[in-house]
Amino acid sequence: MRTFQKYRMRTPSTGREVIVLADPDKVYRDAQTGEQLVPVAQLLPLAPTPSELPWSIENLRFCNHCDQLAQRDLLDCPWCGQRMDDLAG
Ligand SMILES: [Zn+2]
Repeated sequence: MRTFQKYRMRTPSTGREVIVLADPDKVYRDAQTGEQLVPVAQLLPLAPTPSELPWSIENLRFCNHCDQLAQRDLLDCPWCGQRMDDLAG
């Protein structure tokens, strides 16, 4: 189970963005410029979650029990709790 939240962080001078599994008590810096990274967004699903996949469309599938969208790396549907069918292909 992942308990830290994932953030999209941006380097102000370059606009470069990275995904950071962030501890809120720490300061994160760009490896090249040393600048402090600015959080621009939280990634869904929010922690705590058993899934490591962001909620982008290519990472989702429909549960065959309740027809809700669930992350592809989960075995059990987070909405209805039932074991989802194996992925076809
Ligand atoms: Zn379901």
